[in-house]
Amino acid sequence: MKVYLNKDEMPTHYYNIVADMLNKPLPPLHPQTKQPVGPQDLAPLFPMELIKQEVSRDPYIEIPEPVREAYAIYRPSPLVRAERLEKALGTSAKIFYKYEGGSPSGSHKTNTAIAQAYYNKQEGVKKIVTETGAGQWGTALSFACAQFGLECEVFMVRGSYDQKPYRKSIMETFGARVHPSPSNLTQTGIAKLSQDPDSLGSLGIAISEAVEVAAQDEKTHYALGSVLNHVLLHQTVIGLEAQKQFEKINSYPDVVIAPLGGGSNFAGIAFPFVGEMLRGGRKIRAIAVEPASCPKLTRGVFGYDFGDSAGFTPLLPMYSLGHDFMPPGLHAGGLRYHGASALCSQLLKDELIEAVALQQLECFRAGLLFAKTEGILPAPEANHAIAQVIREAKAADEAGEQRTILFNLCGHGHFDLSAYDDFIQGKLQDHQLDEEQLKLSAAGVLTEL
Ligand SMILES: *Cc1c(COP(=O)(O)O)cnc(C)c1O
Repeated sequence: MKVYLNKDEMPTHYYNIVADMLNKPLPPLHPQTKQPVGPQDLAPLFPMELIKQEVSRDPYIEIPEPVREAYAIYRPSPLVRAERLEKALGTSAKIFYKYEGGSPSGSHKTNTAIAQAYYNKQEGVKKIVTETGAGQWGTALSFACAQFGLECEVFMVRGSYDQKPYRKSIMETFGARVHPSPSNLTQTGIAKLSQDPDSLGSLGIAISEAVEVAAQDEKTHYALGSVLNHVLLHQTVIGLEAQKQFEKINSYPDVVIAPLGGGSNFAGIAFPFVGEMLRGGRKIRAIAVEPASCPKLTRGVFGYDFGDSAGFTPLLPMYSLGHDFMPPGLHAGGLRYHGASALCSQLLKDELIEAVALQQLECFRAGLLFAKTEGILPAPEANHAIAQVIREAKAADEAGEQRTILFNLCGHGHFDLSAYDDFIQGKLQDHQLDEEQLKLSAAGVLTEL
């Protein structure tokens, strides 16, 4: 069963969960003064409209018409009942997913890329510089910049640059310039390469490089594909659509599940439902799923930490493994970030959402079952959600409960075939993050809260 919406049923406003949170997220702090950052601190990097959204407490923020028009290229996205997966599992749980892989980048990231490119264009910016880990964000921003006539420059984590060469190609087809990071184009990159010429890079390093370039030119801005409040805000179109779709079939989820890298696709599908609950509406459980090798939610420290490895960004109040955390070469590239967004972190601290960490072999097995039954090869990140969905369905059956489960199929895995190859050939292993290593890197979290 598929539930479609018409274009005129697309949300007209984003949903801002901050309006409904009892404990508001703590403010980001200036990296040097350690005082809350003001709009003037962020102005060299972001357009004023996004800075306003970053601190907004309004419950709804209008989606500009040109953004909605660009969304209409691939939105509304379908809500699908995974009946063949249910059958294969022999479960009486009802499993639904929102499919975000139909967007031009193949992932949910296009939802915020389009909005960010639009607001930058409105303020006269000519070029946007960014980083990308697995490549989805760089692809999304390249496409979005092409929609609004902006230049786009992308620092791509070296490990993925080598592992996923076609991600670079697709970014270039959309008109972007792509550099492997660490590069010799920035002070940060040069310093890292002098320490380790073969560095595979990290998202933290790539962010530092992009910020460094953007800060040098007035007409050049920076954009982030996750973590920040305004990014999570833009993703709420996913959950808002899902609510309308469930209304059409007279149903409602008991559990909402999504993988968590920085928190944007999880927020996108879950926040509208969590908000409903905060306003006294129906209760749900929202579960963020992270890889066991990068377990910031389940094993990290809640405190102020930098968003990047060089310490250029504001200090963010978040669950973090420390800004120097170097994740092992795990294939779900989009889940390797060291911290979780301030909003997701605060909600977890307040026990309004849940978190679990899963090993990669279980996730790949779940992804292959999904591909065989439902016919879509999921992004390895999405496999984390699917594995948890299977656990929830089994738990419901064992408890004799009827459970309706919704998850975000946040992207397809067509650029991740080398990871699937490795899995099929038995080359992947589970990975237990060492307690000592964890302690060492988590000491980088500046103030524990
Ligand atoms: C980027 C990405 C993620 C992780 O980032 P979030 O901000 O947590 O959503 C997960 N899945 C896919 C497909 C991605 O592209």
